[in-house]
Amino acid sequence: MTKKVIIIGAGLSGLSIAYLLKKRGINVHIIEARNRIGGRIETIKGNQNSPMEMGATWFGKKHQNLVAFLEELEIGIFQQFISGTTFFETMSFIPPQKFEVPESEEPSFRIQGGTSSIILKLADKIGLENISLGQPVSNLEKKENYISIYTTEGNIFEADLVISTIPAKLFVQSVNCSPTLPKNAIKIFKNTQIWMESSVKFAVEYASPFWREKGLSGAIFSQSSLIPEMYDHTNYEKNKFALKGFLNGTIVQYSKEDREKMVIENLRKFFGKDAENHVGYFDKIWENEKFTFSPTINFLPSHYNNGHTIYQNSFWNNSFFMAGTETVSHFGGYMEGAIKSALSTSEKIYNIIITK
Ligand SMILES: Cc1cc2nc3c(=O)[nH]c(=O)nc-3n(C[C@H](O)[C@H](O)[C@H](O)COP(=O)(O)OP(=O)(O)OC[C@H]3O[C@@H](n4cnc5c(N)ncnc54)[C@H](O)[C@@H]3O)c2cc1C
Repeated sequence: MTKKVIIIGAGLSGLSIAYLLKKRGINVHIIEARNRIGGRIETIKGNQNSPMEMGATWFGKKHQNLVAFLEELEIGIFQQFISGTTFFETMSFIPPQKFEVPESEEPSFRIQGGTSSIILKLADKIGLENISLGQPVSNLEKKENYISIYTTEGNIFEADLVISTIPAKLFVQSVNCSPTLPKNAIKIFKNTQIWMESSVKFAVEYASPFWREKGLSGAIFSQSSLIPEMYDHTNYEKNKFALKGFLNGTIVQYSKEDREKMVIENLRKFFGKDAENHVGYFDKIWENEKFTFSPTINFLPSHYNNGHTIYQNSFWNNSFFMAGTETVSHFGGYMEGAIKSALSTSEKIYNIIITK
């Protein structure tokens, strides 16, 4: 296999492409901007070592490619706990209503050990020596027979085939291409929504699951509070406990200390005084992540332009490809989209390599 392949981005898409190509005997190198792998997948450890998701968490059985991928990598899954009473709050001045999620509801699942298990397993299969961290790509230059990749750290990589998994909207804002890519492609890239790029996630860690002991599911859905959505975040082994969910975007103006106070106050409204006995508070404002978030001038609806036909094209005489979860039409934005993108992109690259 004589072609040199470089992937930009060590998120789920980039790592999966590298893994799939390696399985077929093609070695690739990955260039990643952050000092960590995983992109929009990030499992952190709490004060009592609870695995807590600051990024992707849930999936369903309908995400067939992801489920098959997890099976292949021998990574276990478990069902999201939702048994017991759940709260639904319509207005701040009306007490929350209580309801139970019916058994017939389509369950969602989590990954044993945390979502990062898939990232770590893939990196292990690829080999860490094949991933360069802390190298934000700033320029791509198409030369006669190869592509030069420049990073802000002053490094230059060269490859015959380059795949970018940077979310397309961010790609056009942060990477200069010479010669420029076609205008119609740039227009679509600029207007492709990045899933969850401005969400705020939080987790509150507890020594025991006091809500379960009271017959509560730990879940909240609220149209009026700071916490629009929250779930029980007990680990697979049922020995680490947390509540985890999303925060309303208005919270970003407050300090971490104030955010913690406001969240605990909110939780007390639903769960009583027990909510105050937390052992850790963690949150993540994705808008502050310059390798995920990209400011948008126009409002883009969720999943806008995900899987646009332009993403099926290759550029620069079949040597440059755009991949990543937002490039697929079905389940674009989700982990399933990342796996689908990896499957189709690795197939394209493999075919180019074996026919040349
Ligand atoms: C808060 C949150 C919650 C989510 N919840 C769920 C969920 O419950 N279920 C679900 O299925 N999905 C969820 N998602 C979406 C899921 O995380 C993504 O679909 C998936 O991780 C995308 O993988 P990717 O590799 O395509 O993109 P990314 O993970 O964005 O990877 C792109 C990579 O490119 C790197 N990069 C960026 N710029 C440069 C540069 N200039 N040079 C080099 N590298 C660069 C980034 O650092 C990153 O590692 C969530 C996402 C977030 C943020």
